[in-house]
Amino acid sequence: MIYLDNNATTKPFPEVVKIITRFMTSRFWNASSAYGQADGLDGTVESAKAAIRMLSGVGSEDEVVFTSGATESNVWAITEGARRAAGDGWVLSSQIEHPSVRETLEHFQEQRLPVLWVRITREGVLDLDELKELVDPNLRFVSLMLAHNETGVIQPLSEAAAIIRECSPECLIHTDATQALGKMPISFSDDLNEVDLVSFSGHKFHGPKGIGGLIIRNGVLIEPLIRGGGQQNDLRSGTINTPAIAGIGAAANRCCELFQKRHHEAVRAIRDHFEAHISSVFPGALILGKQSPRLPNTSFFGIPWNDADDLVLALVAKGIAVSKGSSCSAQSIEPSRTAAQMGYSYEEASSLIRFSASCETTFEEVNLLVEELQDLCGQNRNCGKI
Ligand code: PMP
Repeated sequence: MIYLDNNATTKPFPEVVKIITRFMTSRFWNASSAYGQADGLDGTVESAKAAIRMLSGVGSEDEVVFTSGATESNVWAITEGARRAAGDGWVLSSQIEHPSVRETLEHFQEQRLPVLWVRITREGVLDLDELKELVDPNLRFVSLMLAHNETGVIQPLSEAAAIIRECSPECLIHTDATQALGKMPISFSDDLNEVDLVSFSGHKFHGPKGIGGLIIRNGVLIEPLIRGGGQQNDLRSGTINTPAIAGIGAAANRCCELFQKRHHEAVRAIRDHFEAHISSVFPGALILGKQSPRLPNTSFFGIPWNDADDLVLALVAKGIAVSKGSSCSAQSIEPSRTAAQMGYSYEEASSLIRFSASCETTFEEVNLLVEELQDLCGQNRNCGKI
């Protein structure tokens, strides 16, 4: 299988598999037990937190709490936001958030929480002019993603945070950084310092599935979502998932090494090669958000008059894995909501395919994808005059 769907999930690094296996076979103790502590499991958790801090560029005073993944982290952050907005407050998000954010906010909206959704532009970027018009001192919580799962567009989060802080200094600012962490170098200590809560997920950066977390910036106090045995300083109860935590720590360390070697620039070169190639073979090809800052690995493209569902299935039959868009809605027959929000027509949105590379993707694999697309769409070539 040529795997080009790394925004859906990634292949765990070999060191991740190795360390998980070790923790599941010989170090399976409960981390809260006397012998677990004697075996240094607390240290394992602390090392994994340190690796996450390094990957996200936060300081040692910022808390990392492990959860079952970004879905849980998003629900947790939003639940806190809804609590803070109760009474006379309101919350704000964007039109293109992941379903775990959108549907959770809609759930609270049904319970009378006022929520406003900021537009995005044709280039897939948050409309900062609209944001400026909307914010007021009663804004208590904001959830805006850092990088989009389909388009890869990196949102102007630090500009947005500055606008929000100016008008509502106490507003809790959350970002879903699930697609950004491990795919691009980030520093929440520099330009993103105003962000209070950060969601992330291990399986998006070559770690295990079912583990992620919420970074809680120094001085920010939030209520737990999951109560029980009081693990993780009472912030997230449940027996500590030491194998997965050791695994996510190993993945974060490896990603930091790859960033030091500027590996993401090699990934960008492969993505750019793919887009140049596809545009020359299909002059009418759509590439969403191309003029915006984007994740280096992602291309959301369409070959007009060719249905994405048919192409994705035909490519699977040839051993190439790409997807129609968000993996969460890949089974749905509806085309990408994000494309519609960006102003693309139903027909255009129906042609969109998401290509997402990783540090393992090669030029040969990308060339093969273009060749297969040429074979599959050859008869329609050049007819995409949109
Ligand atoms: N947010 C974004 C932007 C995502 O892409 C995903 C995964 N598709 C999630 C949240 C959910 O992550 P998890 O699988 O860890 O629950």
